[in-house]
Amino acid sequence: MPPRLPALIADPPPGAERLWLTNARLLDGTGAAARDGVSLLVESGRIVRLGSATDAAPEGATTIDLAGRTLLPGLVDSHAHVGGAFDVPAPLKGAEPLLPGTTAHVLAAELQAVLRMGITTIRDVGSIGDIVVEARQAMRYGAFDGPRVLTCGRIVSPTAPGGRFFAGMYREADGPDDVRRAVREQLRYGADVVKVMTTGARSVELEDPDPAQLTREELEALVDETHRMGYRVCAHCEGLAGTELAIDAGIDTIEHGMYLNQRPDLLERMAANGQVLVPTLSFLIGIPKAGPCVWSPLLVELGEHNVEQARLTLVAARAAGVTIAMGYDSAPLRSAANELLALIEFGLTPAEALVAATSAGAAALGLRDQIGTVEAGKLADLLVVDGDPLSEPRVLCDRDRIWLVLRLGKPVAGTALETSVA
Ligand SMILES: [Zn+2]
Repeated sequence: MPPRLPALIADPPPGAERLWLTNARLLDGTGAAARDGVSLLVESGRIVRLGSATDAAPEGATTIDLAGRTLLPGLVDSHAHVGGAFDVPAPLKGAEPLLPGTTAHVLAAELQAVLRMGITTIRDVGSIGDIVVEARQAMRYGAFDGPRVLTCGRIVSPTAPGGRFFAGMYREADGPDDVRRAVREQLRYGADVVKVMTTGARSVELEDPDPAQLTREELEALVDETHRMGYRVCAHCEGLAGTELAIDAGIDTIEHGMYLNQRPDLLERMAANGQVLVPTLSFLIGIPKAGPCVWSPLLVELGEHNVEQARLTLVAARAAGVTIAMGYDSAPLRSAANELLALIEFGLTPAEALVAATSAGAAALGLRDQIGTVEAGKLADLLVVDGDPLSEPRVLCDRDRIWLVLRLGKPVAGTALETSVA
């Protein structure tokens, strides 16, 4: 059975031409060294073949000369709260209160900004309300160009304080049958992945992340139902008891997982099983950085400890050969490549961080065969930047140096498309 493809994945936008992208410096997303003088034929939304800059342009193809710029796969943000990670206007006293439909337009603008930054795929791991699936549907019908969005729908959680703190984002479920039903509800809703709160969250002061929140039976029912239906499971994992349970149960991606350095045996098992770690460093760093004006003092104190743990875990996970994917878990969505810089600061090489943001992200999302590398047969979600992301990773955070973004083979954003009127 072919893997189920999420919405948007196989619909090349109308007007996608046959393109010959020539004279590129290629970073293909596999971690291989850069190659100069590469050309690429793109057709019907996919990469047809790679060639050399000296090859003649194929008949009927429009040539785009990249003039030695760096071509890489579109970036993948594997951990985002799409429905809430953008700046919603806060009207001043006396100004017209925000109308109910305004936020959807703000999200649409944010998703366009995400694509403008070369982020072509984003995984929503929990949002309130229907705003994410509404935006996705609007993109499907061509209302605007944004990234491919995968969503978990509601997060499945046992009855816990987080369900009250993040009202509307969780589907609380207790007992294996209810958990199974909660999974089915998400698939009914249109989810592409199921997310579970295996442990409490350190963003909720009433939650203790140390014990596993679900029983083994509940988690096994969740994984069984999800996998049986052909979907993947991602798990919020902080404390080691719940993290171990998640690894035992065959969870596909471990989100946060900052204490794993204390259990090298679990990291080894993750590497052997192909379970992906999404370290979400930016979110963890953000708590002590924002400090006690924003977060409860208890969480700030724990936050500092967690940042150090996450640093040790990134190094240990890398050494153990665990696949590491980039997930920003912060706002605004368009700044996700900041996580790539954090991964480098905490111990990955720039080449490894680039893999985390491309092919490892594709692996995390179960889309390895479709996106994440520049290879024949893959979807033509591509990014061209002015500069070298290996020697200067910050290029990926600089809007002015994002030269061209292609989604399904169609140039959709970048400075190359923005001609000045002056
Ligand atoms: Zn998150």
